[in-house]
Amino acid sequence: MAPIVARTREELNTAINALPGKIALVPTMGALHEGHRSLIGRAGELADSVVVSIFVNPLQFGPNEDLDRYPRTFDADLAICAAEGVAVVFAPTLEVMYPVPNEITISAGRMGTIVEGACRPGHFDGVLTVVMKLFNLVRADCVLFGEKDAQQLAVIRRMVTDLALSIEIVGCPTVREPDGLALSSRNRFLAPAERATALALSHALHAGASAQGPSGARRAARAVLDEAVKSDPPLELDYLVLVDPATFTPVPDTFSGTAVLAVAGKVGSTHLIDNVIVNFPRRDEPA
Ligand code: AMP
Repeated sequence: MAPIVARTREELNTAINALPGKIALVPTMGALHEGHRSLIGRAGELADSVVVSIFVNPLQFGPNEDLDRYPRTFDADLAICAAEGVAVVFAPTLEVMYPVPNEITISAGRMGTIVEGACRPGHFDGVLTVVMKLFNLVRADCVLFGEKDAQQLAVIRRMVTDLALSIEIVGCPTVREPDGLALSSRNRFLAPAERATALALSHALHAGASAQGPSGARRAARAVLDEAVKSDPPLELDYLVLVDPATFTPVPDTFSGTAVLAVAGKVGSTHLIDNVIVNFPRRDEPA
């Protein structure tokens, strides 16, 4: 059955009030791909009714970022939602989400100024503000986010803790192309040669995750990226970090436990991010 498409708060309320049982929300910016589909599939396992929001949120784009060219593929998105048994698609206009410019916003604090936040000032504040708004509008029991955006997941979890929100956050594994490239709505902008360069991101993470210890992981990943920086077209490396998954602060070389190896860079005019979770056993533990 086709999902109900709600464009306004009133339409959303009517649709949600008619939904049975537990509700799961999957927030997206549209241009849906297999990564989004996996979140929607997991949402269907966890709840009785799935709501997908589709909204390209201007608040999380910087002045020189790709808001205007961000892909908008609503009809194809709706077909995916229908095939996945989504009950409601909430696709508000800008005026519905921001009837007046927000005076009050959510700050991601220090976590919003490091790593990806250092490259995209204000990005995580914009993410948290729209996510909080979606939580309030949809009133879901649980919300699903991709581990692909690991820092986003970390700041959202922290907002839920710090502001005592009553909502369950579920992280879902990154979906990749067979050759390792993490699926992203922005991949469609990559020319074939750019895509070949972009593969260095996932290759670097794979090399890092296969190496010994934190310093070995950083070194192995760095070696792959150094090659990509010299390739044609080149990778413009923004960062490679090995960080605590909850705080996104760097882990020391002596670290044991679970860390996130995260990378970002630009190929052509396309900003790409990727990460992998790495477990470093204690020295006296078997690997
Ligand atoms: P976006 O539409 O890019 O804002 O993404 C919407 C949700 O899908 C976010 O929670 C993302 O982390 C998640 N997502 C994006 N790409 C992937 C992927 N390749 N695998 C899993 N989840 C993803």
